[in-house]
Amino acid sequence: MPPFPPCPLQKVFLSQLNRDDAFYMAFAFNRAIDAWNDDEVPIGAIVVVGGEIVGSAHNRVSGTGDPTAHAEIIAITQAASAIGDWRLKDATLYVTKEPCPMCSGACIMSRVSRVVYAVSDQKMGCLGGATDLNALPASNHHFVVDRGVMEHLCRELIQAYFRLKRVSAPAPETS
Ligand SMILES: [Zn+2]
Repeated sequence: MPPFPPCPLQKVFLSQLNRDDAFYMAFAFNRAIDAWNDDEVPIGAIVVVGGEIVGSAHNRVSGTGDPTAHAEIIAITQAASAIGDWRLKDATLYVTKEPCPMCSGACIMSRVSRVVYAVSDQKMGCLGGATDLNALPASNHHFVVDRGVMEHLCRELIQAYFRLKRVSAPAPETS
């Protein structure tokens, strides 16, 4: 079987002068490209506190053999370690695809203040796509959710990955 092709999309570097959501999502997108080149499902996430990136990760389920090694979980763990507090108060999580049930739960339990994702997931997304865990009425933590930042590029990346996987190997588990 031929080796899986390298990622056909280029990394994105935006001006430091305008640190908006697209600026930070570009870092998550670039981590997703790293995931592809490590033969992982191309999803990336970063955590930002006070304008600083305190967590940055890509999906590592295949390489680690760990079903919990989603980009969001790793980035949240790094962020808690970096700031020395499990409560990620004032933190924003940027992720290229809508968080799954596990990662949406981790957003609640880590008390992030905001989640920004690029691509909605109608099948497994739990921040509005398939269901909305952030809307649990009795939950003692809710956060702001914003959607669609860099959606086109992030969708193109994920779709290209699965299109090529289908022709080169049996379909893997999605994350
Ligand atoms: Zn997840």
